[in-house]
Amino acid sequence: MSTILEIKNLNLGFNLSDGFRQAVWDVSFSLERGETLAIVGESGCGKTVSTMSILQLLPETAKIQSGEICFDGENLLNLSQKQMQKIRGKRIALIPQDPMTSLNPLYTIGNQLLEVIELHQGLKGKEAFDVALNALEKVKIPDAKEKMSAYPHEFSGGMKQRVIIAMALACHAEVIIADEPTTALDVTVQAQIMEILREIKKQENLSVILITHDLGIVAQNADKVAVMYAGRIVEYAPVKELFKNPKHPYTKALLNVILDINTEKVETIDGQPPSIENNISGCPFHPRCAQCMEICVKKNPPKRTIDGSVVCCHLYD
Ligand code: SF4
Repeated sequence: MSTILEIKNLNLGFNLSDGFRQAVWDVSFSLERGETLAIVGESGCGKTVSTMSILQLLPETAKIQSGEICFDGENLLNLSQKQMQKIRGKRIALIPQDPMTSLNPLYTIGNQLLEVIELHQGLKGKEAFDVALNALEKVKIPDAKEKMSAYPHEFSGGMKQRVIIAMALACHAEVIIADEPTTALDVTVQAQIMEILREIKKQENLSVILITHDLGIVAQNADKVAVMYAGRIVEYAPVKELFKNPKHPYTKALLNVILDINTEKVETIDGQPPSIENNISGCPFHPRCAQCMEICVKKNPPKRTIDGSVVCCHLYD
């Protein structure tokens, strides 16, 4: 396998009314061709903002302080907006969380597909139509030809998400960023969408960044996992190692968040992740960590490599 995407030491933050606040700290990860990397963590841990920086789809208040985002050997941070437009949607596609708001309600599914095919592939007429139809068939839209002239409101949430995946396929995207792609869908539809993603990933040798808080989806789909907390990657490991031998107390706590069918209670992690406005000394997880030690309050743990996993925790000093 060869590396298609590599984030190196990314630091970014936001200009807020009371000054600049750092939101992403020294984030590094890589994605090989044909691989799925899952990024997990609670809401507000920096998963989405880290990955949106790849596409440079950040709010105006955001500022990347340092780091590199290397895609196919090129640092995307050195590209102009015009150059980025040739990569965004074409070579790196986004499957957003909410398919309901991702399609334009005023245009048919076919028009929207044909528009991206024309823009990114330079195809027109029958050639473009055939590519669109083929993509809809690959994502298993029934009666795909007729559905080309349907409007988004005629599609269910799951079908809309299939159309978004078809857009990425039609443009021959090499990397797909799927940002909680099934959160807005019901459970059976979630399973169908994940199956389609797995199938097309295999067929097209796609690389996928899967942002999720569902560890079941991670176990089924990912090759490796980055666990994020307070804007940092606190554990980065092959998926089997992470589930078999989790090292960071936050990873262990996430794995314990399950429903106990005997008591019908859900184990939770006490407390909340810190907001970017709060400066926490030492390890950012220390206020919630059952294994917190004196050093944890004073010093942020460095990255260490243990049994093929990268972990930030003083337990391994
Ligand atoms: Fe817990 Fe300390 Fe490890 Fe942080 S560094 S996760 S507080 S043991």
